[in-house]
Amino acid sequence: MILHSEPTVIIIGGGPAGLSAAHQCLALKMRPVVFEMGDKVGGISRTESYKDYLFDIGGHRFFTRMAHIDQLWWEMMGEDFITVARQSRIYYRGRFYDYPLKLTNAFFNLGIVESARILLSYLRAQISPQLPEENFEQWVANRFGWRLYRTFFKTYTEKVWGMDCDQIQADWAAQRIKGLSLKSAVINAMFGGGKVKSLIDSFQYPLKGPGMMWERFRDHIEAHGGEVRLNSRVTRLGHDQVRITSLTRSEGEGEETMPVEQLISSIPISRLVKILDPAPPAPVLAAADNLSYRSFLIVVLIVNRKDLFPDQWIYIHSPEVRVGRIQNFENWSAAMVPAGETGSIGMEYFCDIGDATWRMADRDLIEMAAGELAELGLAEKEEVVDGTVIRQPMAYPVYDRGYSANLAVIRAYLEGFVNLQSVGRNGMHRYNNMDHSMQSGILAAENIRGGEYDLWQINEEDSYLEEEQLPIPKSPLIEKLLRQSFARVDEFAFAAASGTLAGLLIFLATGWLVVKGGDNLGQHLQLIGQYFIGYTVTVEGAFIAFTYAFFSAFLFAWTGAYLRNLFLTLYLYVLKKKNEMMSLRDLIDHL
Ligand SMILES: Cc1cc2nc3c(=O)[nH]c(=O)nc-3n(C[C@H](O)[C@H](O)[C@H](O)COP(=O)(O)OP(=O)(O)OC[C@H]3O[C@@H](n4cnc5c(N)ncnc54)[C@H](O)[C@@H]3O)c2cc1C
Repeated sequence: MILHSEPTVIIIGGGPAGLSAAHQCLALKMRPVVFEMGDKVGGISRTESYKDYLFDIGGHRFFTRMAHIDQLWWEMMGEDFITVARQSRIYYRGRFYDYPLKLTNAFFNLGIVESARILLSYLRAQISPQLPEENFEQWVANRFGWRLYRTFFKTYTEKVWGMDCDQIQADWAAQRIKGLSLKSAVINAMFGGGKVKSLIDSFQYPLKGPGMMWERFRDHIEAHGGEVRLNSRVTRLGHDQVRITSLTRSEGEGEETMPVEQLISSIPISRLVKILDPAPPAPVLAAADNLSYRSFLIVVLIVNRKDLFPDQWIYIHSPEVRVGRIQNFENWSAAMVPAGETGSIGMEYFCDIGDATWRMADRDLIEMAAGELAELGLAEKEEVVDGTVIRQPMAYPVYDRGYSANLAVIRAYLEGFVNLQSVGRNGMHRYNNMDHSMQSGILAAENIRGGEYDLWQINEEDSYLEEEQLPIPKSPLIEKLLRQSFARVDEFAFAAASGTLAGLLIFLATGWLVVKGGDNLGQHLQLIGQYFIGYTVTVEGAFIAFTYAFFSAFLFAWTGAYLRNLFLTLYLYVLKKKNEMMSLRDLIDHL
């Protein structure tokens, strides 16, 4: 139990980052107080409900490479953390494609001619990739070929981001879709036959949606002396240029101002600078205004039939309909829908605050979504009996051309405050999943207790690959062996050494026989004369043998070393490509 003399840490935002920060504060004997403006915890990862139907903002898969976060999830959920075998497809031009793409299924759907074109376009991209690689379009096309990019990536990506793929920065793709390092790929290939467990096949999910996880975090925090205040919006942060000194929040009709010792904020960083009082300099405010976000709305349709389709979700690439992705929540967990004959379908629309889709009346959105569901052949329009709409502003931080420079201006300004840390997805304008959002909160709490973590390094150092690498021990011996086995052999040095060794051996053997003397000198060695023309077991012959042996061994060793280097290079290239393909298999999941 926390004593009141322990330092109090104020945390703004009750999403994964804020609640993880609070959880860690308790572990470090500090008292967390979380202010959350919503009426439930979980932020973007909350579970919403309509009548008895539960649904989340986009379908949240729980998967992480960070063991301590995985452990924390299991501690919170126990047996309510279910394993879901993934099933998902892409809908494109009237056909359903398995996703991640499967060769035979894609081939069957595309037909022989289109498949051949895709293959040719892939080969062309491998031979002459477009460089420099500046935008997302080039990044994907260089890896998949332009034709596959146009078929499977372009339309959906543009639906999600609302902009052309050549306007999305390549570093966004590089951050989200990192492959294994070549070293890890080699280790996997050598020790594990290339097997990697991945989010592609299965994932964890709380029995009643992701919000259940965050409710357990809240219960834990409150049970151990912390506080989580809902419906509590932070509206002002007073400061003296070095420290945040006070916080003002509104709850219901009331408003309260309180002193601040330490502050962790997980609200969008652009909003954070707007509630600082006095206001930051104009360039900082301008940088905040220029950070942009993509928003999202989900139309939940109640249908009077279960088992509409077997997938958890379907990506809709067809440009004829506006819907981007369709969720079938009962396939995430049967507990998401009530018992009986009805089911619920989540029709997801990517949009901007204030655009035509965002402004549509809920009734019209339900009507449109029901029409599109029927148009796609997934249900009859008459089967839709009810519906609701949830709008999620600022769902995705956008990596447009200027974002990095704008973020740098804001970061530099905020770093001037000694008791403020900005964490989480929008708090760092990072396209983080839950685990990385949580990690930033945890490390922020550690920093208050003397840790020296640079929160901005989290994603850069810890690649985002959602694959579990094999548990190969970090042994210096293995490292050394790997370095030596895969090092390039210097052909000339190896050949010269081999030549010298072979020459010396035969020179010394001949010399020894000559010194030893006797009849029929070196009768076996003399047979070499059949190959080394002019060789005899004499002093002169020893020099002839040296020359022959040197040049033969030199040639042999040089060729051997050259071929070994060539095959090694080819092996590493194939491994790299295979590994790249593996990590791109679920590219659309990361958009
Ligand atoms: C469609 C979609 C699908 C996703 N799918 C996955 C997935 O499958 N797996 C995965 O790991 N991640 C997924 N994510 C990402 C995940 O949702 C985020 O990483 C996570 O929610 C970020 O947590 P956070 O705490 O940083 O921010 P948020 O979840 O945004 O929480 C911030 C909180 O701050 C509160 N707040 C804001 N302003 C104030 C204020 N002034 N005062 C008080 N409170 C305030 C908000 O109400 C909110 O609750 C998905 C995201 C989206 C949009």
